[in-house]
Amino acid sequence: MSDLKSEITKRRTFAIISHPDAGKTTITEKFLLYGGAIQLAGTVKGKKNTRHAVSDWMEIEKQRGISVTSSVLQFEYGGHCINILDTPGHQDFSEDTYRTLMAADSAIMVIDASKGVEAQTRKLFKVCSMRGIPIFTFINKMDLESRDPYDLLDELEKELGIDTYAVNWPIGCGKEFKGVYDRQKNHIMAFEAASVSGTKEAKVTIYQPDDPKLEPMVGERLWETLQDDIELLGGAGEEFDMDRVHAGTLSPVFFGSALTNFGVEPFLQYFLEMTPPPTARMSKGEIIDPFDEHFSAFVFKIQANMNKAHRDRVAFMRICSGKFEKGMDVYHVQAGKKMQLAQPQQIMAQDRAIIDEAYAGDIIGVFDPGIFSIGDTVCTPGFDCKYSGIPTFAPEVFCRIRQKDTMKRKQFIKGMEQIAQEGAIQIFQEPHTGMEEVIVGVVGVLQLEVLEYRLKNEYRVDIIMENLPYQHLRWIENEDFQPDELKITSDSKIVQDYRGRYLLLFTSMWNLNWALDKNEGLQLSEFGRAE
Ligand code: GDP
Repeated sequence: MSDLKSEITKRRTFAIISHPDAGKTTITEKFLLYGGAIQLAGTVKGKKNTRHAVSDWMEIEKQRGISVTSSVLQFEYGGHCINILDTPGHQDFSEDTYRTLMAADSAIMVIDASKGVEAQTRKLFKVCSMRGIPIFTFINKMDLESRDPYDLLDELEKELGIDTYAVNWPIGCGKEFKGVYDRQKNHIMAFEAASVSGTKEAKVTIYQPDDPKLEPMVGERLWETLQDDIELLGGAGEEFDMDRVHAGTLSPVFFGSALTNFGVEPFLQYFLEMTPPPTARMSKGEIIDPFDEHFSAFVFKIQANMNKAHRDRVAFMRICSGKFEKGMDVYHVQAGKKMQLAQPQQIMAQDRAIIDEAYAGDIIGVFDPGIFSIGDTVCTPGFDCKYSGIPTFAPEVFCRIRQKDTMKRKQFIKGMEQIAQEGAIQIFQEPHTGMEEVIVGVVGVLQLEVLEYRLKNEYRVDIIMENLPYQHLRWIENEDFQPDELKITSDSKIVQDYRGRYLLLFTSMWNLNWALDKNEGLQLSEFGRAE
């Protein structure tokens, strides 16, 4: 196999999605531990310290002069080169979290076994499901009291509308979590009490289902339940169909406990076996093969530099085909210009390093003097390629913004437009109004604080923000839409985005459904189609 082929074949690029506290960080840590990328689990934890009040975060950005938000963790495990995309949660949940999913080839969905499907899981799942990428479920915290496993699967299917296939099945939960039954291999993996810190891989003993030593090990009650479960699972339920897994309509489910390491490594091994190597992406209606020798990539995230002395930014790109080499000439399709990518860097576990080469499936961050926009394509000069852009995701927090000093109109407009172009905020206007007053929508509230801070510090503009009661935004998809004929409740609003597309703002789902009811044929979308 050529170098290019073997490098690309061994790559696995995915995101871990979850509601805060379900255990995403802990699982990531354990993956890194198995991969030998960190000595002791616990290192990633430090990253949590970057999730603090906006002011501290900006201090850090200023001191370093470069974004500290890491974007991808790369490490080797079992002959694979793994890229885990960071999907920020907690306060730093933003549109970037959604955009990051555009760069992933699959997703691991972590569910807290005592809670089931939660709000943020639902939102992130929706985006993965729109893309039709494979979604693997890890039901975590089985070492604590958990909900009934059948109920949990039922909830996943009903709430998310995806079929499930349990690859393993838990034996007990809480203090009695004894192990899992591996359905593929038809054996039982019994866990030995691990150190609570879980800094070592869990010790596992394998039993055949009919091994006489099994019953005394798990106790009579759990043994009987297990026999029933094996019978039930053997009979009913979804067939395991790899094509459906790859199409994102069937989610393989695993039970375990990230904290104690129970079931994590077997999960990682199954996952790496089942999840695809870098998948082909669409360019102008055609498929670009990741193994194509021409380099191509698209920008999925732009990180602004908070240091106002340097207005440069970092553009994060997902490589879709070929190989990137430092210093090579590339063509920036949207600008129609040949250029070199400056300071290409990659984040290996915690450290940022300037890289010499990277392959399809990898993510690189490059210095951006302000030329890139989200969704842009760069490729080998002469390679005919332009990736379908990245959709815009509906914000959930809205406010009206005005400048305090009307003399500063120019700076205000410039600042708002630049920050919107980076993708940190979306700006909307009511039809027939000017830029003196705009409606800003964001996915996470932190972005509003960032906006205020940046307008003041970079553009010397003070603003007045007025919160608006809207919660849902929808793009109007109808080609022949007539704004004058629209019927909406008085507390709903029609606005336009910077491309002139019409959107509707609603204070509740009730109002949204009312609009659908009263306007026959009205088509609303939660995603703004990419250009
Ligand atoms: P994240 O917000 O999804 O990244 O969640 P974390 O990985 O930070 O976990 C949130 C909390 O749950 C932490 O206190 C973890 O130690 C704890 N936790 C994570 N996984 C498990 C688990 O399997 N069992 C138990 N008992 N606690 C866990």
